[in-house]
Amino acid sequence: MSRRIGLLGGTFDPIHIGHLRAALEVAEQFALDELRLIPSARPPHRGTPQVSAQQRLDMVRLAVEGVAPLCVDDRELHRERPSWTIDTLESLRLELGAEVRLFLLLGWDAFCGLPSWHRWQELLAHCHILVLQRPDADSEAPEALRNLLAARSVNDPRALSGPAGQIAFVWQMPLAVSATQLRERLAAGHSIRFLVPDAVLHYIHAHGLYRADSVTQE
Ligand code: ATP
Repeated sequence: MSRRIGLLGGTFDPIHIGHLRAALEVAEQFALDELRLIPSARPPHRGTPQVSAQQRLDMVRLAVEGVAPLCVDDRELHRERPSWTIDTLESLRLELGAEVRLFLLLGWDAFCGLPSWHRWQELLAHCHILVLQRPDADSEAPEALRNLLAARSVNDPRALSGPAGQIAFVWQMPLAVSATQLRERLAAGHSIRFLVPDAVLHYIHAHGLYRADSVTQE
């Protein structure tokens, strides 16, 4: 049987339990052989993150250590240009071949922003898309995505077939935590214990990240 690989890209600034639970639940639900977290080096749709790409990658590594099938893919840190998902998918296909089933995980907010992504209409040529329902999600998809949804979405995620090409919605245990909230809490001097793995918390404190007095490090 073809291998099944999940992909969760993100800024991970910092990684938190919302990302990790989503990744683990999808890995279990879809019996994935691997679920790769892919930190973005230069996120195209937002300002420069407060901490360096290397530090965000370090935190993702610490978070998934010993948590198979979650793992880290650092290819976006080795590219000079913005971290476009289409480039990542093309390079994964070259490496893994045409048969592997790729599942790109997108939170609802990320999915709604898809029409602004570089070459977004080509994404489904390389992967299936799993849209993770987030507790704060609006229920209406943007106009630009309606035709795509009508043509490509399946009602039952178990009906996804082949290596790529379809969209399914995945319901998960809702965890309304965002990295923005965590950065705000840290800047205000509040605890984020239990919202990130302890190893990530220690890293943040050891490197003085996200404090109101810390300077941009990139
Ligand atoms: P920020 O608050 O800085 O925008 P974020 O917490 O949304 O960050 P990202 O790194 O931007 O985190 O997210 C990476 C991916 O994980 C996106 O597809 C996003 O929708 C999804 N995601 C983020 N938080 C959650 C959550 N709590 N539950 C499910 N998916 C999430």
